[in-house]
Amino acid sequence: MSAQIRTPTHRTCVRCGREERYDEEEKVWKVTDAVGDIYCIHSWDITGEFTPVVQ
Ligand SMILES: [Zn+2]
Repeated sequence: MSAQIRTPTHRTCVRCGREERYDEEEKVWKVTDAVGDIYCIHSWDITGEFTPVVQ
């Protein structure tokens, strides 16, 4: 049984809501929609442990 490590392709800041997606070709993170707070010390939710929306 082997663990599979997934490369995150999307991340959301849990502080200001900024969203970015990873560009596989350019190897850089790009903002998808809202820019968010430029003064925010972004805290990225890339592990999926934090759920901003309560269902
Ligand atoms: Zn932020």
